[in-house]
Amino acid sequence: MPVSDTLGRPLRNLRISVTDRCNLRCQYCMPEEEYVWLPREDILHFEEIGALVDVFAELGVEKLRLTGGEPLLRRGLPTLVRLLAAKPKIRDLAMTTNGVVLAEHARDLFDAGLHRVTVSLDTLRPERFKALTRRDSHAKVLDGIDATVGAGFKGLKLDTVVMRGINDDELVDLVEYGKRVGAEVRFIEYMDVGGATLWSMDRVVSRTAILEQLARRYGRIEPVIEESSAPADRFLLADGTVFGIISSTTAPFCRSCDRSRLTADGVWYLCLYAKEGMDLRGPLRRGASKEELKARIVPTWQQRRDRGAEERLAVANRTPLVQIGELRKDPHLEMHTRGG
Ligand code: SAM
Repeated sequence: MPVSDTLGRPLRNLRISVTDRCNLRCQYCMPEEEYVWLPREDILHFEEIGALVDVFAELGVEKLRLTGGEPLLRRGLPTLVRLLAAKPKIRDLAMTTNGVVLAEHARDLFDAGLHRVTVSLDTLRPERFKALTRRDSHAKVLDGIDATVGAGFKGLKLDTVVMRGINDDELVDLVEYGKRVGAEVRFIEYMDVGGATLWSMDRVVSRTAILEQLARRYGRIEPVIEESSAPADRFLLADGTVFGIISSTTAPFCRSCDRSRLTADGVWYLCLYAKEGMDLRGPLRRGASKEELKARIVPTWQQRRDRGAEERLAVANRTPLVQIGELRKDPHLEMHTRGG
């Protein structure tokens, strides 16, 4: 029997952060100069991730996404991919990456059995990339995208966080670039998640504004009608191009959210906005059996009421979710620890 929460949302989709480290410093995610990192000895070994995935898979999880931090900074990632791809209950194994070192790894990841790749790409302009990420690696990201296609991956997605005055003049260019490389572009509303200490509503470009801008260039835009728990609403242009919008800030989709998140040190979060998570590393390292782990996970999911993004919507005068002092005290509150 699949395990469902109080809103009938199944435990189906697990995002696994394999490291809290990142090789970019995107303004919307890691804007500070200094960070508090997870202790190295707490980082789950691949076998430990595999053991937890076995437990989750028996409870209904069939979709996994490797993320971070930057997942490709985790040494030997194809080994983990091979281990997870071999699990019969896992029918979708994806990864979200910033693409900087993807060209070096795309072939190995494909051969190891990774099904799908999403690359974060916020701009097509190298200088803008440098200003936004504080690193000069734009060309490497584009090489990574080419290498992904070359390695044989199908269903490539490109995720763009849209910010007013930063990259909101590039929506059409990104759609056109997506067409050229055969990728589906998904525009993400800038979210006030932990770590986004520079967030302000003025910088958010809403789904409505994104659609208006694209309609000015492409004319009629049709919604793609589909039953899905995926975060993006998908849209169709007259020439058959499909793109997505993830409108977590202005039109959240909590009611169909089947995602939970495991941090690199084994803390399980039921919502991107949750303040507290459940430590699974401790029991696992103390030798807890599968049944004991299930006995922790099942009631927690069954009692899940989280609607983090919807609750944020109800807040008047929204400011960043977590203040810098709290983030320093508990890096688990950071998006780059929790995995986007
Ligand atoms: N390093 C990988 C990458 O860049 O794709 C994976 C981790 S990153 C935290 C995952 C996703 O979260 C990225 O697509 C990133 O753009 C998104 N993200 C981070 N902070 C965000 C924010 N404040 N609002 C919206 N999306 C955000």
